[in-house]
Amino acid sequence: MYTEKLELDEVVNTLEDEVIEYLSELVQIPTFVPPGEHYEEIVDLLIPHLRESGFHCERVVVPEEIVERMKEEIPGLSGRRVNLLATREEGNEQSLDIYTHLDVVPAGEAWATHPYTTVRRGDRLYGRGVADSKGTVAALLMALRIMNELKIRCKYNLRIALTTDEEIGIYSGLCYFADNGLLQGKYLLCMDGDNEGICVATNGVMNWEIVVNGKACHSSIPSLGINAIERARLVMDALERLKERVEQRESKAPCSPSMTQVTGQKHIKPIFNLTMISGGVKENIIPPSCVLRGDRRYIPEETEQDVVKEFEAALAPLKSELELEIHCYPGYPPMYTDPEDGWVKEVQTAASAAFGVHKPVTGVQGGLDVAYAVQKTGQPVCAFGIGSSIESNAHGADENIRIEDLKNYVKFIVMLLQDRR
Ligand SMILES: [Zn+2]
Repeated sequence: MYTEKLELDEVVNTLEDEVIEYLSELVQIPTFVPPGEHYEEIVDLLIPHLRESGFHCERVVVPEEIVERMKEEIPGLSGRRVNLLATREEGNEQSLDIYTHLDVVPAGEAWATHPYTTVRRGDRLYGRGVADSKGTVAALLMALRIMNELKIRCKYNLRIALTTDEEIGIYSGLCYFADNGLLQGKYLLCMDGDNEGICVATNGVMNWEIVVNGKACHSSIPSLGINAIERARLVMDALERLKERVEQRESKAPCSPSMTQVTGQKHIKPIFNLTMISGGVKENIIPPSCVLRGDRRYIPEETEQDVVKEFEAALAPLKSELELEIHCYPGYPPMYTDPEDGWVKEVQTAASAAFGVHKPVTGVQGGLDVAYAVQKTGQPVCAFGIGSSIESNAHGADENIRIEDLKNYVKFIVMLLQDRR
């Protein structure tokens, strides 16, 4: 059966309280990370809903030894990393993976309402994770239920991956899925992101560290030592010249209209930042070392090797006069799906129709774990979320979404999945 937009509007309107109730149940489980202690609970909550919609559900637990390694980088992690894989095979020609994460960032201060209670005020819902990204999970559950109840045929075999630890940015549940062959769809829909556009491009991330070595001595006769902090100025000058060169480039991937409004940029750009500096022992000791740290975000047109090479080349001339240690720590790779790809068009058409406004194809300058996943799988991917990057205040106090957008997202999923033949 094929459902017209007007009929769908009406159905979703009558179910408004129920989809809000789904969301409240999800928000109530405090899956903030670190520590990430409540994954098992939220997966247990989700399984009956998905079983009712005909899914086979599997708990995928990230092995202890992997979690132990993560704990070395991020202190304060505890609890089992329980992910959910829900599959429904219906003999369809095409298969689709749908992904988002179940963790949220800690609530932080300055909330006007209780962060783990979903509160309705005016036309909005407030609570930690409503935008990033539990709202999409509630909408997905409701969309699947509606399709079941109205007997709307789904055109894809579905694999739903609801995973752990996205917010700590090292090795998320999704990375584990990708490394273990659990993503098998022809396409991938990432529900993490904002609803301003269909995101097809993200920057890659590389953190870096430079140690400038000097020699300590009494500050009253500085010529006996080497002042690492004063000498670090040469490094900073070189980095500034590198930054200028890097940030002149731009990707062919466009940025969202709201980003253009804020920055004047039309396309995403590479970024180079010096963000941390430390050194020195005491006022009267010539500092023996100075450590500089920062990040480099690189566009899909650049490669990790190029980025490392360029970074090292920028510092090479200093090596004759300074003792330097240079370290690069690659993070998530960049992501790029051709905007003309048929899958992107499908998502764009459904999203534009459901939200009643044209959704442009965009890129963002941040990085996503989904980029790691598709580097392994080669799947065409696009990200479309539920909140607004400007209004929703994801990761801040009073995170919120519009109730209208929650309902629009339910419609988006139905319109994307329904078989129109
Ligand atoms: Zn997110």
